[in-house]
Amino acid sequence: MSTVYWNVFCSGCRAQNLPRYRFKCLRCANYDLCEACHENKVVTGAEHKPDHPFQCLVDIPTKELLFAGEPIPTLEADSFTCPVCSTRGHSADDLVKHAVNDHKADSTKVICPLCVAVHGSDPHLLDNIGTHMSHIHGSADRTVRFDLPGNDEG
Ligand SMILES: [Zn+2]
Ligand SMILES: [Zn+2]
Ligand SMILES: [Zn+2]
Ligand SMILES: [Zn+2]
Repeated sequence: MSTVYWNVFCSGCRAQNLPRYRFKCLRCANYDLCEACHENKVVTGAEHKPDHPFQCLVDIPTKELLFAGEPIPTLEADSFTCPVCSTRGHSADDLVKHAVNDHKADSTKVICPLCVAVHGSDPHLLDNIGTHMSHIHGSADRTVRFDLPGNDEG
């Protein structure tokens, strides 16, 4: 198998192919780890710190295994990490509510884990995750939206 699903390399071991799982740092614009380096909590470079939260992304063959016989989700993650307080296991809906309610006034520079999970996207660091969540993904009392540019394939 020579298909490189994610066009990124591991910041830890420099591997160009991250099979199954990709761990993307939600505080650095360009920091990804493979499964093994994430497990070993590899830290390289000046920017990345050990307490940075990661979003775990799953490639299509792995999604097909995980969701065998069920509809396969379009997003590349089925559970989301809060980029501000690092809590894990949020559904997309939960995370929007959580960020809008709890991190409304937070100005930590973070990357949106929901935007990261859209294939082919390259999200930037945001100034305010609460504002982004309510503007892009719906407010706390509405359902999650993913009307992102470039997400209309199919
Ligand atoms: Zn690695
Ligand atoms: Zn980082
Ligand atoms: Zn949080
Ligand atoms: Zn987003």
